[in-house]
Amino acid sequence: MLGMPGSSCKQCNQPLVEIDHRGERLTGCPKCNRWQAAIGEWCRLASDDIAALRALKATKTETGNAG
Ligand SMILES: [Zn+2]
Repeated sequence: MLGMPGSSCKQCNQPLVEIDHRGERLTGCPKCNRWQAAIGEWCRLASDDIAALRALKATKTETGNAG
């Protein structure tokens, strides 16, 4: 279960998700379309990108810790 304090959207209270947008790590709410970059700057994504993200959620992606 996801219940980390401070990881919920302040507007809709939905759990924030972490995405990889063109190589940049963004954390935000797909419902409100508000995304925060690692530097703390907020931005919005195009609706096309949001649709793509929703598609990604259905696909099971394997997360590797190679680094
Ligand atoms: Zn929200």
